[in-house]
Amino acid sequence: MNSNQICQNIKRIKENISANVQLIAVSKTKPVEDILTAYNCGHRDFGENKVQEMTAKYEALPKDIRWHLIGHLQRNKVKYIASFVHLIHSVDNFKLLKEINKQAIKHNRVIPVLLQIKIAKEDTKFGMSFQQAEELLNSEEIKEFKNIKISGLMGMATHTNEKGTIACEFQSLKNFFDKLKKTNPNFQYLSMGMSGDYKIAIENGSNMIRLGSVIFGVRNYQ
Ligand SMILES: *Cc1c(COP(=O)(O)O)cnc(C)c1O
Repeated sequence: MNSNQICQNIKRIKENISANVQLIAVSKTKPVEDILTAYNCGHRDFGENKVQEMTAKYEALPKDIRWHLIGHLQRNKVKYIASFVHLIHSVDNFKLLKEINKQAIKHNRVIPVLLQIKIAKEDTKFGMSFQQAEELLNSEEIKEFKNIKISGLMGMATHTNEKGTIACEFQSLKNFFDKLKKTNPNFQYLSMGMSGDYKIAIENGSNMIRLGSVIFGVRNYQ
């Protein structure tokens, strides 16, 4: 994809979404040049799914980029991103949350995180059930974690052409988000929607979309 196209893609997408929806440009597997192109068109929020790749890109690129970790995160890797990550979308267990809090303390910062909820039927996707998320949010231990801010939820719909199925899954997460928001004042982000389904996600209440291929072109590998 040439640089003109990357800029045009971002511009076109932003023109077609309302101002309350944040666009995360998912740059995984793409070279730093592509990110810099998007950066030079004014974009600042980028998503990566691998710690090593995100760290390398962080080091190579301007420091006002906001890095979003959107992929599965192993506890032993939190330390590599704790100093700079802007938002972790993919927290799906208590021990991980505890580790993020511990590493955040070391860097004297508060790290915003989202809980990843499994809404898809496929069993390859990570994430907690609604019940697990509620138990986690209501647990006493979590109140001790002063260096994390649980700011909302993330979910991925089933990979299918059936729009009705996708809409139902997003709707269920939106309903859950609204319910939790009543007792969790920090809740503000509902991260749902990828290149193939972001319009359905927005129709169903998403305010943060994670788009890769519609911006940077198709990936040869995941
Ligand atoms: C790769 C990825 C995306 C972006 O996928 P596209 O289909 O290229 O838009 C969004 N979210 C997560 C969690 C991803 O891993």
